Amino acid sequence: DLRIAGYDDALAEAIAAERRRQEDHVELIASENYASPRVMEAQGTVLTNKYAEGYPGKRYYGGCEHVDIAEKLAIERVKQLFGADYANVQPHSGSQANAGVYMALLQPGDTILGMSLAHGGHLTHGAKVNFSGKVYNAVQYGINPDTGLLDYDEIQRLANEHKPKMLVGGFSAYSQVVDWARMAEIAKSVGALFFVDMAHVAGLVAAGVYPSPVPHADVVTSTTHKTLRGPRGGIILAKANEELEKKIQSMVFPGIQGGPLMHVIAAKAVAFKEALEPEFKTYQQQVVKNAKAMAATLIERGYRIVSGGTENHLMLIDLIGRDVTGKDAEAALGKAHITVNKNAVPNDPRSPFVTSGLRIGTPAVTTRGYGEKECRDLAGWMCDVLDAPSDEAVLGRVRDAVTAQCRAFPVYG
Ligand code: PLP
Repeated sequence: DLRIAGYDDALAEAIAAERRRQEDHVELIASENYASPRVMEAQGTVLTNKYAEGYPGKRYYGGCEHVDIAEKLAIERVKQLFGADYANVQPHSGSQANAGVYMALLQPGDTILGMSLAHGGHLTHGAKVNFSGKVYNAVQYGINPDTGLLDYDEIQRLANEHKPKMLVGGFSAYSQVVDWARMAEIAKSVGALFFVDMAHVAGLVAAGVYPSPVPHADVVTSTTHKTLRGPRGGIILAKANEELEKKIQSMVFPGIQGGPLMHVIAAKAVAFKEALEPEFKTYQQQVVKNAKAMAATLIERGYRIVSGGTENHLMLIDLIGRDVTGKDAEAALGKAHITVNKNAVPNDPRSPFVTSGLRIGTPAVTTRGYGEKECRDLAGWMCDVLDAPSDEAVLGRVRDAVTAQCRAFPVYG
């Protein structure tokens, strides 16, 4: 049904092959999900043609009356979803949202205190290779290597020592509940702003199955494509604060972006409507149940989970002391059609390119309909592969089982 087919066969075949991969491989990358056909439909509309620099009612281009409706719907829905007073839905990505926040509220050279990439933070939380670690004086906190948990006393100590202008909360690889109130207290105690990037757990937060940072933080960002299951993109939220709103509005546009992607904003509006439905809460509850079921099976089979388990949609499997590295485990599971990503774990003796861990998450499998039984079966097959990563017979048997399971739960039909 692609009009690209017959015109650009090389591209059409790549798209078709990716579709087959998404149907026939099981997706356990914790940051991925399957957008609904409605979300994809909105992204493929004529809204892609429209320039709309500015904000609804205050544009620098004519003809914006219809795209204004789409943007206002997205704003009102996301405010309702998260109980926020302010929302900007224009950031093109999570990283752009974070850039907007830093640049609106900080000066180059200011100190930020965020979670290190190696311990589960994101690149944009102050990693040296990222603008956030180049433009700002980034001090990094991590998890306690013995417990796998955030150590709030240590974060307080770092805050006292470095007096950051901003404390950054949020993560890409932490399987426990963050005490947002405690983090807000730490920020307040040193006069820092408290910024939370809730990209990973936004869907869980929207559904009320993970605590919301919105009441505690000065400003919150998220991606829209992970647990939130919308189009690729970013958002910025805050409680009522006129001065902060003004700074963020003018930093997103014209500060760091030009024309907003109106087709993506329309897709965000659809995704937020979907997230307001009762079924979305059931979905997010199942995401967490599925993650717990996988963690329990992995632990039964003798695998360590960082922090001992999961309270959200993801977990880290700790492979320290085993022959298989994170890199090799990712490759072996890939051969069995199980897609995961290698990830460093606390006290990891191996390099970040090799690692001794795997990050797995359940948002995507839950969208395709997996329940706890399917997740327990899947975790068991993963253990079979991790126990014998170079045994082709095992890889073949697991691949067949995974394919049959995937076909029983088609993504798009
Ligand atoms: N923030 C967190 C916590 C993330 O995990 C990610 C992506 O993995 C991002 C931000 C960046 O989002 P994007 O890839 O849309 O720039």
